[in-house]
Amino acid sequence: MNDNLNYQSPKQVPDESNRGGVGRNLLILLLWLLFLNLFVFRGAESPLVPYSQFLDQIDANQVSEVQIGTKIIEYALKPNFSTNQPPSDQPEKPKILRTLAIAQDKELPQLLRAKHIKFSAFPDDAGGWFATLLGWIIPPLIFVAIWLWFLGRSQMNSPAPFNVGKSKARIYANGSTGVTFDDVAGVDEAKAELQEIVEFLKNAFKCVNLGAKIPKGVLLIGPPGTGKTLLAKAIAGEAGVPFFSISGSEFIELFVGIGASRVRDLFEQAKLQAPCIVFIDELDALGRSRVGANPMMGGNDEREQTLNQLLAEMDGFEPNAGVILLAATNRPEVLDPALLRPGRFDRQVLVDRPDKSGREAILRVHAKDVKLANNVDLDKLAARTPGFAGADLANLINEAALLAARKNHLLVSMEDLNEAIERLLTGLEKKSRVLNEVEKKTVAYHEVGHAILAALMPGAGVVEKISIVPRGLGALGYTLQLPEEDRFLMLEDEIRGRIVTLLGGRAAEELMFGKVSTGAGDDIQKVTELAERFVTLYGMSDRLGPIAFEKTQSQFLDPIASPRRSVSPKVAEEIDQEIRELVEGAHQIALLILDKNKGLLEAIAKVLLDQESLEGDWLKSQLKQVEKTEDLQEWLLSGKLSHPMHFPLSINGQEKKTCNFY
Ligand code: ADP
Ligand code: ZN
Repeated sequence: MNDNLNYQSPKQVPDESNRGGVGRNLLILLLWLLFLNLFVFRGAESPLVPYSQFLDQIDANQVSEVQIGTKIIEYALKPNFSTNQPPSDQPEKPKILRTLAIAQDKELPQLLRAKHIKFSAFPDDAGGWFATLLGWIIPPLIFVAIWLWFLGRSQMNSPAPFNVGKSKARIYANGSTGVTFDDVAGVDEAKAELQEIVEFLKNAFKCVNLGAKIPKGVLLIGPPGTGKTLLAKAIAGEAGVPFFSISGSEFIELFVGIGASRVRDLFEQAKLQAPCIVFIDELDALGRSRVGANPMMGGNDEREQTLNQLLAEMDGFEPNAGVILLAATNRPEVLDPALLRPGRFDRQVLVDRPDKSGREAILRVHAKDVKLANNVDLDKLAARTPGFAGADLANLINEAALLAARKNHLLVSMEDLNEAIERLLTGLEKKSRVLNEVEKKTVAYHEVGHAILAALMPGAGVVEKISIVPRGLGALGYTLQLPEEDRFLMLEDEIRGRIVTLLGGRAAEELMFGKVSTGAGDDIQKVTELAERFVTLYGMSDRLGPIAFEKTQSQFLDPIASPRRSVSPKVAEEIDQEIRELVEGAHQIALLILDKNKGLLEAIAKVLLDQESLEGDWLKSQLKQVEKTEDLQEWLLSGKLSHPMHFPLSINGQEKKTCNFY
């Protein structure tokens, strides 16, 4: 998430003389020379005849003169044998013929002498010294030309033709990032930490006298879109210093060594403009751990050299030289430990997703640019958007403004904002996708199944909307459930409840139609994943206890290693059994609850089929009527069913052979 400021200060040298052009011109010139050499300097070749014909012609006394080379023999016919066309009025030129020499034929000279034919040796470089020279020089030149051409393509915008490593960093002149701390909201801790750096840059070298140690490198860590780039720009903006920004991936080029020279160059430029800020986005693209590199895929020399150069530069400049390196990453765990050592990126600042009040503040920042209707409640909006990062919220406001504009409204209303949330969460409506009656009915019951269970399960928020209008990629219908508050943990019973809710769609299909559709595929995927985490990552299974069977991300840097800890076959079997039991239990519960609320299920589904989407008070009042079953609570807390699991399951006297495990 990197919005590109388009403004470029005049300091940058945007000279577009491109090396690609030089390479290309050279290439064309060479090809032209080659062509000349082959077809022009050689001249028109005389016709080639078989050796036997040559001998026959000697025997027949038709040959006047012979030149013998090691490979080629050229000979002239006597004028009266020269042509097979009718004689013209022009004086006839002797006809020249060629044949391939046969080295074994040692008797040719004697034969020629016997016939009194003039003969001589044939100068081998008959094509001329020029052609020979070209033959030697052209091939290497072609390589050079191609190389230059590629170089030019790989860095179109660097200045001089042989200035290979010029850095591509964008430079913004004094304060021209135009961003201040006021534009960044919801990350107050990070701002407080970075304030110190602003102070240092503002008073450039004042702190030195006070003996203050300013960090050389600050690493901003956080998920994408949380405003890391924005913060870096804000620091530059606040301090009024130049801002160099480059992305880690831009260092990595086709040719080994270019990235390194780019790093060198970047720091050279930066030192000239100190105090200033150098910002490297996506540091992980170049700073990935060298240890984890997979030998089977071959080391990445280019990246390693670039990284080494970066480390060398960071060690090279004085702590108080006035260049402050900021970098951003969302994967600190993959970074090379060398980068995090003291004297390098020793200061780390967490830029996390905002909490509710943070989201409200961010919404306020972005809402400044649009006209809001009176009914807009940013506080409420913040509550409905847990998990949204700053970039998502900016996007939300923008999307709502677009919606309002499309409806020719002058103000952005709460309805627009709600619709924008829905759109960001579920994708665009696809009215063009027409479902047939059976599909529609299946989808309707499926979604109502989810909704009924969601209404009972703990900690998951309120069902806001059910819809059977297809949306986005693949979703034929959806149940929108928005949480009421930010949650940072999920409790055991909530995970079980979530699994039940996810299985609600499929259970409803089973219950109503006695058969299931592919529509539950996505739900089942999520259920299986959640159940697996329940057992292997969170240690929530009673039988297996709090043991992590799954490794966390940082532990499988090595791409060929398995993400599971090595376990005995018996334990592996137990894991599978636990997962299966959990999912099957949830499935049973879902079926039992839906069976108990079958009347309600049908009633809501009928209205849904008719109206295509349900929301608001009517839906809420309907879902309030959902009844629990007795064993629900116990199952949610302990995962144990009071009655033994019964397969095959019989519902409504409709005998089902098995509850298939997907
Ligand atoms: P990152 O670098 O963390 O991926 P960016 O800084 O590029 O994220 O954020 C992209 C855009 O999202 C910003 O330009 C800004 O409009 C918006 N944004 C992100 N975080 C915030 C925030 N904390 N306050 C205000 N706007 C934000
Ligand atoms: Zn579903």
